[in-house]
Amino acid sequence: MKCLSTLCMVLVVCGSLAAQPPVTADRALAREILKELVEIPTTPAEGTTRAAQAVTARLLKAGFPKDDVQIITTEKNVANVVARFRGRGLRTPGVLLMAHLDVVPARREDWSVDPWMLVERDGWFYGRGSADNKAGAAMLVANLITLRRAQWQPARDLIVVLTGDEETSQRGIQSLVTTHRALLDADLAFNTDGGGVILRDGRAAIFEVQASEKIYADYQLEVTDVGGHSSLVRPENPIYTLSAALTRIGEHQFPLHVSDVTRMFLQRSAATESGQTAIDMRAVAAVPPDQAAAARLSRSPYYNAQLRTTCVATKIEGGHANNALPQSARAVVNCRILPGLPGADVEAVIRKLAGEKVQVTVLEAPIASPPSTPTPAMLSRLEPLVAKYWPGIPVIPLMQAGATDGMYTRSGGIPTYGVSAISENPEDVRAHGKDERVGVEPFYTATQFWLELMRTYGDDTH
Ligand SMILES: [Zn+2]
Repeated sequence: MKCLSTLCMVLVVCGSLAAQPPVTADRALAREILKELVEIPTTPAEGTTRAAQAVTARLLKAGFPKDDVQIITTEKNVANVVARFRGRGLRTPGVLLMAHLDVVPARREDWSVDPWMLVERDGWFYGRGSADNKAGAAMLVANLITLRRAQWQPARDLIVVLTGDEETSQRGIQSLVTTHRALLDADLAFNTDGGGVILRDGRAAIFEVQASEKIYADYQLEVTDVGGHSSLVRPENPIYTLSAALTRIGEHQFPLHVSDVTRMFLQRSAATESGQTAIDMRAVAAVPPDQAAAARLSRSPYYNAQLRTTCVATKIEGGHANNALPQSARAVVNCRILPGLPGADVEAVIRKLAGEKVQVTVLEAPIASPPSTPTPAMLSRLEPLVAKYWPGIPVIPLMQAGATDGMYTRSGGIPTYGVSAISENPEDVRAHGKDERVGVEPFYTATQFWLELMRTYGDDTH
């Protein structure tokens, strides 16, 4: 825009004020989109094509150019939406904003309400996907439309990605990050499908930022033998060999490793804890970490999972008759690997512990995904925003169990932060379960929070 008058000069000089008149999230629109999405079943069997079409129709109707709103079908029934809110070109690359359209199945007979209807009751929206993650998709789409209607334009591109198979193979995001990388030219991503505002005694206590995810891997352990009549006992027995291997794995403790994200998590969480736990958290966050404090903290499965890779036997089968020597015994060992450390090392440890007589097969290979350590620049914009909505609560980066689409954007080199901003009680998480729900006010608050987040980072040219 050229400046032709003094008034115009003043507006430009005033900068952000002139560029950013307040915009309020459109609650009715966000609710309407949430309702539309919940009422289109998007289980793996049904796919996400209809939901993707519904979303793109809305964006096109709101005036987004056809070329900027694309449905990318990565597999049969897996439709992903990539919508670009073109910026003024003041900075490239853009900012990625993520959610997913697919949901896990739900059976009407298991629920108190119809899972495929959005039911508003007692301050909650009920329905499959209401929390995970159609609330996120609805917020992003509603905000794109609201911001465009308000004639606001970001300084750099905002790229909304809604994937179609997050709950299953996550090949949609993998394909977008690799094959369709030009569409995802971002150097920062925010995911609605991670983090959250944690309630304690009904009050907002912590703003969680998912900055890292543990990496999933499955290994099969198998021992075979010729077998025989169980009256003629021989020393070799696959069940015994496998049991001994599993016992060694069970007794093994992977070494303590404190990443930068975990260090920030411990330092900031210590302020919300008291007594020995708070002391131990600070001691483990120190460099080098205090081993005795780490041992005490590790007694809690939750903190143990933050501090080290874990592997655990999850399935076992073997033998074929009560009166026969077993011909085979098999088990599955599931590992949750600390990100940033090579997964192959874990496989080597499992092989070594299993021993030579046990055949180890990789059932699900680990996928490298580096942690996204929050930078001061990122936090300097996020923290004031959080303080505006939830004054006084700490912003705590953490590693979650995984795995969301964020794993793949991180492994694709885009630092990714899960900041759903929806408040929830950690004792009553219903995602994937019966009577899934999201709070009505928390949904609207998060929608407004995300609108400001989109403006803040969309206008950030640093
Ligand atoms: Zn999800």
